[in-house]
Amino acid sequence: MKILVLGGGITGLSVAYHLLGRTTDPSIEVHILEKDTLTGGLCRTLEMDGFRFDLGPHNFHSRMPEFHQAMKGLLGERYTERSFNAKVVFRGRTIPYPMSGVDVLKSIPLHTSAACAASFLAGLFSGRGKNEEEVTFRDFITRRFGAKMYEIYFGPFTEKVWGVPGSELSADFGRERIGTYNLWDLFKSVFIGMRQKSSSTAENPFAEIKRFYPPSGCGELPDALLKQCTADPRFHLHTGVEVTGLQQQDGRVSGILTNKGEMSCDHCFSTIPLPELGGFLGLDDTELLSYTSTSFLILFLNCPSVMDQSPWMLFSDASVPFSRVSELSLICEEMSPEGKTSLILEFTSRRMSESDTGSDEELFEAGVSGLQRSGFIERENVIGWTVVGRRGTHPLRRVGYAAEKEKYLARAEEVEGLETLGRQGTFAHMNMDKCFRSSEEAAIRFTEMNGLK
Ligand SMILES: Cc1cc2nc3c(=O)[nH]c(=O)nc-3n(C[C@H](O)[C@H](O)[C@H](O)COP(=O)(O)OP(=O)(O)OC[C@H]3O[C@@H](n4cnc5c(N)ncnc54)[C@H](O)[C@@H]3O)c2cc1C
Repeated sequence: MKILVLGGGITGLSVAYHLLGRTTDPSIEVHILEKDTLTGGLCRTLEMDGFRFDLGPHNFHSRMPEFHQAMKGLLGERYTERSFNAKVVFRGRTIPYPMSGVDVLKSIPLHTSAACAASFLAGLFSGRGKNEEEVTFRDFITRRFGAKMYEIYFGPFTEKVWGVPGSELSADFGRERIGTYNLWDLFKSVFIGMRQKSSSTAENPFAEIKRFYPPSGCGELPDALLKQCTADPRFHLHTGVEVTGLQQQDGRVSGILTNKGEMSCDHCFSTIPLPELGGFLGLDDTELLSYTSTSFLILFLNCPSVMDQSPWMLFSDASVPFSRVSELSLICEEMSPEGKTSLILEFTSRRMSESDTGSDEELFEAGVSGLQRSGFIERENVIGWTVVGRRGTHPLRRVGYAAEKEKYLARAEEVEGLETLGRQGTFAHMNMDKCFRSSEEAAIRFTEMNGLK
C-alpha cells in the first residue's frame, strides 16, 4: 500500500512517524513529497557563519501532558524546560507579556486610562451594537474594551502583526485569542484584586504554561522525526518535489502530479496549504483564504547578549517596523559561538506581495536603526546579517473566511483516500503540539480502518 504525504513540515513528518510506528506491515510504503530541499517547514533551524537561528522563536508549550512525554521520548535530555518571560514594548515602556491589566493601565497616562474607561462605559450604557452580530475583530474588541483601547493598543498591534486592519479580520480571531476577557475583568484585577472568572470558552490567554526549548533550536524536532523515519526501510523522502496536481479515479485519489513527474498512490495525507489543495480539486482561487508572509532579518552580533533575560520582545507601537525581536542564545546554549549572539527580527511582509518594493538592505536599515533607537544595539556590533522570507506563516482570518474554509474542507472530504491536516492543511492557527497530535490521530484512524497491525 503506497501512502503519499504532501509536505515535510512538522505535520507531514509526524504523520509518517506515527504511521510507521503503528504498524509493522511490510507492504506499506510512506513517501514524503517536500518542495523545499530541507524538511521542517516553518519549524526549522538554519545555520550561517557558525550561528544557528530559528525562523521566529518556536517554544514547545502545550496543555497536553502526552505531547511533552512524546517530545521527551524523541529528544531525550535535550527537551529542556526553560523559564523566561517575554516582554512587550508598549508606548515606549517595556512591560511583561502577556500584558496584565495593571501593566496596561500603568503604561498609559491617567487621562488616557480615564478616556479608555469612559469610552468602554459609553459603549456599554448606550447599548450601541448590543443586538448586532460581532463580525470583525474591531467590533469584538470595541465591545469588550471600548473604542479607545482599540485605537491605542489592539488596532495598531494587530495591523502590524497581521498586515491588515482589525476591521478586515473576523471576530472569531478575537474569541479564540482573548475569550470573554474584557475591560471590566481588567478593572477588577487592578482595583479589586479579583482573579478573572473562567467564563471564556477559549484557553485563558493569561495562564502560566510550561515551556521547553532544545539547546540547538526547534529544528531538533524535525531532525529527530526524520531520523526515526529514515531508520525504517518503508520510508522514502523526496525533497525538491513540488506537488502540482492530484489525479482521481472514480472519486478516489489515484496519484499526484509533481514538477518531477507523476506518482501513483493508494492514500494521500496532504499538509500543504488548503487553498493550494482546493485549486487541485477544481476550486477557484480565493482571497478569503490567504496567509501572512514574514521576513526574518537575522543579525549576528559581536557581543555576548543584548536583551537582558527576555528571549523575545514584542513591539506594539506602530513607529517600530518589526513586530518581535528574539535573542534565542539567552535560552538555547548552542545557537551562537562563544561571546557572540544573534537577533531575529520579524517583519510582516509586504515585500512578498505586489505592493511591496522593499529590498533586503531596506529591511536591514529599518531593523538596525529601530533597534538603535530603542537602545538595544550599537551598529558597530553587527558582524553579519541575512534575510529569510517565508510565505504562509499565519493563516489570515479575514471576515468571511470560515464559510470558505468549510467549503474547501468539504470538497477535500469528498475525495476518497485523501485527508488534509495540519496548520496549512486545515487553515488553522495550530501550534506544534496540535500538529503532532492531529497527525497521531490520523495515523490511528488510518491503521485501524485498514486493519494494519
Ligand atoms: C513565526 C512563527 C512562530 C511560531 N512559534 C511557535 C511556537 O512558539 N510554538 C509552537 O508550538 N508553534 C509555533 N509556530 C507554529 C508552528 O510553526 C507550526 O504549528 C508548525 O510548524 C506547522 O507545521 P505544518 O507541517 O503543519 O506546516 P508547515 O511547517 O508550513 O509545513 C508545510 C510543508 O509543506 C511544504 N509544501 C507546501 N506546498 C507544497 C507543495 N505544493 N508541494 C510540496 N511541498 C509543499 C512546505 O514547503 C512545508 O515544508 C510558529 C509559527 C510561526 C510562523
